[in-house]
Amino acid sequence: HAKENGVDFMRYDAAMKQRTQSKVELENDMRKALEREEFFLEFQPQISLDTGKMVGMEALVRWNHPKRGLLPPSEFIPLAEESGLIVPLGEWVLKTACLHNKKWQLDGFEPVCVSVNLSMRQFRQYNLAERVDAILREVGMDPRYLELEVTESMTYDIETALDQLHRLKRLGIHISIDDFGTGYSSLYYLKSLPIDRLKIDRAFVKEVMYDGNDAAIVSTITTMAHHLKLKVTAEGVENEEQLEFLKLQRCHEGQGYLFSKPVPAGVLESEFLSRLAG
Ligand code: C2E
Ligand code: CA
Ligand code: CA
Ligand code: CA
Repeated sequence: HAKENGVDFMRYDAAMKQRTQSKVELENDMRKALEREEFFLEFQPQISLDTGKMVGMEALVRWNHPKRGLLPPSEFIPLAEESGLIVPLGEWVLKTACLHNKKWQLDGFEPVCVSVNLSMRQFRQYNLAERVDAILREVGMDPRYLELEVTESMTYDIETALDQLHRLKRLGIHISIDDFGTGYSSLYYLKSLPIDRLKIDRAFVKEVMYDGNDAAIVSTITTMAHHLKLKVTAEGVENEEQLEFLKLQRCHEGQGYLFSKPVPAGVLESEFLSRLAG
């Protein structure tokens, strides 16, 4: 018996070691991946529920790993956050998203806003606003076409969050709270934060037709957003029933597989962006 246990224990140990090793490997790979241009962006359209037109898009990062193939953010963002690599990676995402958007504008497409996810590690940088400003200037993109998505976890330090948000807002960009409803943020803070939009987490949208509690939450968030003069976007809209419910609630925008999954830049251009008239 004891031996059996011993063997199991060793196996466990080996598995642990392998996991740590592959973690270290992945982290090393990530350091090189930026230079080797293995990251790329996909864009997911954001649709006005009023007009059905695309009014914005969210940039989402992917990693084309030379050995492991295409990796979704869930497989490397947590590690990037842990190691601090999220800071240079996040800046690459921001700059690349702005470059794409600027190019579309120069090519004569109707300007739309691009949303970029900001990790807490980036949000805590004392010179974040200066860095964002530098990127906007370098790319030459009008700040009003940039939206940064932050999460409720920023409110753990409300003084710093307020200061940081005010600095970002002064640049002329937009701010949204991502995954709204899943984190801790008091309603008291909400009224004092200089933000433009709430993005209702898809966990609440998923069962909105069958779960009365989810329906109440979505309806309450939307009503509150209207009162606070905030825009509201529903994430993870997958079917017509959800869409009808959201329209009844007068939710402004939707994002989800019903409209489109995230697509490469070329597809966004050919299928979703519209040429300016004239
Ligand atoms: P998120 O910011 O909440 O992004 C939305 C995620 O939901 C995306 O997953 C998108 O593909 C997925 N999604 C969109 N519509 C639907 C739908 O109708 N149904 C379902 N089931 N899923 C839908 P993705 O691209 O795998 O990204 C996952 C998360 O990784 C993001 O969640 C975000 O937190 C993080 N992430 C992605 N790109 C970046 C980045 O550049 N920087 C940072 N810091 N985080 C990023
Ligand atoms: Ca997001
Ligand atoms: Ca989200
Ligand atoms: Ca999410």
